[in-house]
Amino acid sequence: MPLAYPITDLDASDCKHAWHPFTQMKEYLGNPRLHLVKGEGSWLIDAEGNRYLDGNASVWTNVHGHNDPDLNAALKAQLDQVAHVTLLGLNHRVAAELAEDLASLTNGVLPRCFFTDNGSNAIEVALKLSFQYWQLIGQKEKRGVISMRGAYHGDTFGTMSVGDSSGFHQRFAPWLFNAKIFSAPVHVECAGQVQTSEAQASLQELEKILQNESKHVACLILEPRVQGAAGMRQQPAGFLKSVAALCQRYQVHLILDEVFTGFGRLGSLTATEQEEVVPDFLCLAKGLAAGYLPLAATLTKESIFEAFQGDFSEGKTFFHGHTFSGNPLGCAVARASLKKLRPMIRSGQLTESASLLGREIDRNFSSHPQVSGYRQLGLTAAIDFSPADRRRHWPVDLRAGYQVSLAARKYGLIIRPLADSLLFVPPIAIKPEEIRHLVQAARSAVDEVLPKLEIHSLS
Ligand SMILES: *Cc1c(COP(=O)(O)O)cnc(C)c1O
Repeated sequence: MPLAYPITDLDASDCKHAWHPFTQMKEYLGNPRLHLVKGEGSWLIDAEGNRYLDGNASVWTNVHGHNDPDLNAALKAQLDQVAHVTLLGLNHRVAAELAEDLASLTNGVLPRCFFTDNGSNAIEVALKLSFQYWQLIGQKEKRGVISMRGAYHGDTFGTMSVGDSSGFHQRFAPWLFNAKIFSAPVHVECAGQVQTSEAQASLQELEKILQNESKHVACLILEPRVQGAAGMRQQPAGFLKSVAALCQRYQVHLILDEVFTGFGRLGSLTATEQEEVVPDFLCLAKGLAAGYLPLAATLTKESIFEAFQGDFSEGKTFFHGHTFSGNPLGCAVARASLKKLRPMIRSGQLTESASLLGREIDRNFSSHPQVSGYRQLGLTAAIDFSPADRRRHWPVDLRAGYQVSLAARKYGLIIRPLADSLLFVPPIAIKPEEIRHLVQAARSAVDEVLPKLEIHSLS
């Protein structure tokens, strides 16, 4: 296949050997490829020295920017001690210290911390702990899971089963177990202005499911406030509290998937804290080790931990663990990150950044002919594209969002599309002038690409 880009050695190896995640490789190989070699704060630098704002925070993970001196120092200090020690029946210093730090996220209400190494695994652990818990206390019939329309909890079989991302997971449907799905609330806000908000129907549907089936339900799993992978779909403030109250009333565990929303993404350490809710399980990953290293944690209550205690022959042990669970390098970076993040949140910086992002999105896209919708909450935002005549649509293979994201590189921006939408997820520590660049570069790419696509629109 002819390549559309000058072939360097790097490019040749990539084209010949790599298979990239979530990527149609035919499309990837047919377009210019980007080889990143260095990071500096909110910026990534390619092999030719070009600079790009990291508009998706290296897949929603980056907190303090790339190459942060404090995080680098913490990582190097730990490297001089030990790079890896298993937690299977053993302990190492930073895991214990980080577990204590994480207990403080819920003021000690979830004092037990089970480490893993990625978000999907943090969810798998919560599900398996919930399932095993009900068996251990003699309620074997509580086996089901409830999740919300549009949910994304990962790509492993368990997390696909409780997700509702058919575009990603449909092919594997025959191998999945069933979860009961309730409809999501309808809520759209940007820069603190609520455009529409309706949660009653969703809560009523959930209550009905619980009334009929709670005896057979182990847990409800939810991404609080924003469903990232669904396209930054929002829930109104207070919705989580209502869901939590229903779970408590019908004795169903509440698993909060804060893999995306944790560590400053919505302006506080967790949405759980912001919404004053106490789940039974809190799952953390992406920003936990500040976007440096793969690390994840599932936090839970002492009462759940207690149910698993017994003589070995009783078979109460939780038989689950990953080779790199709680890796010391990741734990060291996570501790250093939390130490910097707490004062940053207290200073009001994140509130201001979020508000600026919302205002810039609003200013640039509110009356844009090819933007059919947009929303922002914390440091998350999305804009949706459509032909100016809203009754028409673009053929899928026109790849409107993808074309905009490719064009954005010319304006110094890396940003990921989701179908005909663009998702804004910058590093948490992004500076005001960088937020302006982020939105302006996206605007330039939109203006360059979308008017040209108008003629291909279908009714
Ligand atoms: C990314 C994500 C996951 C999966 O995390 P991985 O580390 O990619 O396995 C789960 N839940 C949410 C909300 C996510 O955004």
